[in-house]
Amino acid sequence: MTRIAFIGLGNMGGGMAANQAKAQHDVRAFDLSAAALDKAAAAGCHPAGSVAEAVADAEVVITMLPAGPHVRGVYGEQVLAHAPKSALLIDCSTIDVDSARAVAGQAKAAGFRFADAPVSGGVMAAEAGTLAFMVGCDAGDFAAVEAALAPMARVTIHAGDHGAGQAAKICNNMLLGVSMLGTCEAFALAEKLGLAADRFFEIASKSSGQCWSVSTYCPVPGVGPATPADRNYEDGFATAMMLKDLKLAQEAAARAGASTPMGAQAEALYALFDANGFGGKDFSAVLQMLRGRLAE
Ligand code: NAD
Repeated sequence: MTRIAFIGLGNMGGGMAANQAKAQHDVRAFDLSAAALDKAAAAGCHPAGSVAEAVADAEVVITMLPAGPHVRGVYGEQVLAHAPKSALLIDCSTIDVDSARAVAGQAKAAGFRFADAPVSGGVMAAEAGTLAFMVGCDAGDFAAVEAALAPMARVTIHAGDHGAGQAAKICNNMLLGVSMLGTCEAFALAEKLGLAADRFFEIASKSSGQCWSVSTYCPVPGVGPATPADRNYEDGFATAMMLKDLKLAQEAAARAGASTPMGAQAEALYALFDANGFGGKDFSAVLQMLRGRLAE
């Protein structure tokens, strides 16, 4: 049994902390939201009154917070001051590469081992314990990080040094945003050309147009395996979250001097969809905008 401090018990962190408790670890959980804390307690975690209390004698600290400023604040002001130096620190939030490297630098200077370990897979994978983790850390720390993440993971991959996990995450999600938009355009064009969506699905998923957005996460309701499209695009990977990741990719590209015109176009289209009030809908719902049917 490992003493794990788990900070951030939202849509993702709630299920992840529950899986650590299910694996018989002693989980000290903290969130600013009382409702999230109650849910974690019902799932077998021990609620703490503050970050300081949660991390006080932790062997592993896991954070799942919204964005870079939250992670900088929680580590800079609280975790590094109150956790034992022997604790392994793992941030699973999706944040900018610079924040990840800055927090890793501070943690290392203070004598801690730190890893950025963002995830692929949504709320359902968080609950099922089948997330894919991409990890940036010292090579010598990877085995310990992998073991700590195991109750929440389908696969854990070492991406490289500090920040490499976040780099992998934003590159992956930029590719996903571009491929989903291409998939939606193709289905919208097929419709205009009188080609039935289920026929195009069968052909594209067995032809060179095949990709995850077509065959696993088809944006057309009633076509292919069950997806958020089949539940009115609810409870999936929110457009606002995809937009956040596309912005992170564009900021990173600008700083690195990389040319990402397709990523820029994807950011612009998702920003437009979000501005039309669809930020809470699954990102595959952008199909409706491309079909010119936003009101449906
Ligand atoms: P969420 O908003 O549901 O949860 C974040 C939680 O952090 C909230 O409960 C909030 O109260 C808590 N929090 C904020 N500041 C805090 C602080 N200072 N101390 C303690 N708790 C604090 O978000 P989420 O959907 O769980 O996403 C978390 C992270 O995972 C994000 O970085 C997101 O980009 C990433 N992610 C999300 C998904 C998804 O499908 N939702 C998939 C992959 C990655």
